[in-house]
Amino acid sequence: MYWDSKLETINKEELEALQFKRLIKILKTVTKNVNFYKEKFKAVGISPGDIKTLADVKKLPFTTGEDLKATYPDGLLAIKKEDVVRLHTSSGTTGKPKAIFFSARDIDSAAELMARCFVMTGVTRSDVFQNMMTYGLFTGALVMHYGAEKLGVLVIPAGPGNSERQLTLMKDFKTTVVHITPSYALYFADFLEKKGISSQRYLSLKRAFIGAEPHTEETRQKIEKLLGIDAYNSYGLSEMNGPGVAFECIYKNGMHIWEDNFLVEIIGPATGEPLPEGEKGELVLTTLNREAMPLIRYRTRDITSIISEPCKCGRTHRRLTRIAGRTDDMLIVRGVNIFPQQIEKVLMSIPGVGKNYLIKLEGLDEMTIQAEFDLSVFDGQVEHLVQLQNQIVNKLNSEILIKPKVEILPPGSLAVSEGKAKRVIDNRTI
Ligand code: ADP
Ligand code: ZN
Repeated sequence: MYWDSKLETINKEELEALQFKRLIKILKTVTKNVNFYKEKFKAVGISPGDIKTLADVKKLPFTTGEDLKATYPDGLLAIKKEDVVRLHTSSGTTGKPKAIFFSARDIDSAAELMARCFVMTGVTRSDVFQNMMTYGLFTGALVMHYGAEKLGVLVIPAGPGNSERQLTLMKDFKTTVVHITPSYALYFADFLEKKGISSQRYLSLKRAFIGAEPHTEETRQKIEKLLGIDAYNSYGLSEMNGPGVAFECIYKNGMHIWEDNFLVEIIGPATGEPLPEGEKGELVLTTLNREAMPLIRYRTRDITSIISEPCKCGRTHRRLTRIAGRTDDMLIVRGVNIFPQQIEKVLMSIPGVGKNYLIKLEGLDEMTIQAEFDLSVFDGQVEHLVQLQNQIVNKLNSEILIKPKVEILPPGSLAVSEGKAKRVIDNRTI
């Protein structure tokens, strides 16, 4: 089942022709309407006429998060202010927020892409969608909301938190799909467990869309098992509309990125040079279908790679591998490059480990991992705690090549955030 079968199964030649046509149009618009791009292109001596093929995109300069902050509030606006209908900002996990504008057509295109994603996982008009993401300046909830309404799904705009009320809504309205951060999904599973409620038995939940923050395959599997559902990886960022940029289909083998709307490149984060297809690097996206705020070669800082083998679902849009982290998430501990996801992967693969963890860096590169234990597997006896601790240290050592201090805590000891989880506290003095 497709939402837009023509565009979702478009062949390579037609896709590239469409991408090229859209790219040139966007380049002409920004050169005319956005001083920032006019000057940036002039500085490197390039104009839209120099772009003769899609591959020429690499001649264009990058746009960075810093550029968005420097042009705040509206330096990148490409249409008249009166034609803007919506403002969103990024959640600002990494400093000052970035302002993103939408025209009415932009809102509609974002909802279209989102509707494709819903249908791709098997959602139909008879589903009930409980949106457990933050409504407001953050794009996460609203873009998904509009996509669901476009498809004709009943939307419950629950927002995050208040698990008791979430549960009541789920029971009373027979929610079948939720949109939730992976950390809140784990917390919610814990909440149900404490109440002795089996999701499979008492709720109608079938699917969860989990996104907004990096998470591992192990975490996905844990969520699926605990809630008895299918969990689909949902990727997006405010700068590119929010959710609906890339999403898994029922085969869960990477996230289809909507290439008619986004031109995809993977570059070496240090060199800025394009990497051969399939290699892991920083994702760079150019918007191909946005009016209010087109972005050229935007450096997302997200680390991923492209899968170009055909997918059994028939969609021709290539896939992104699970986001391994952000370039600015990378920790350098005792000279070793570590992504928090590597630590999560180890923790979630050990049965006695519970759902929440924290990485603490202190002093001169001292790493402490605090992990909650899982009461259903674990009796909390001291000798078992020590065994578990050793198991974690040894597994971590083979994954990240250092032996951190590990503290095992009872479930519920670590703070849970309703929005994006904060997994690293870096108080190093160096
Ligand atoms: P902020 O950059 O302030 O967090 P956003 O709310 O736009 O702003 O967050 C987008 C970022 O969230 C992405 O660039 C990415 O790092 C992360 N993200 C979103 N979805 C996923 C996902 N499915 N897997 C991993 N990371 C994700
Ligand atoms: Zn597919």
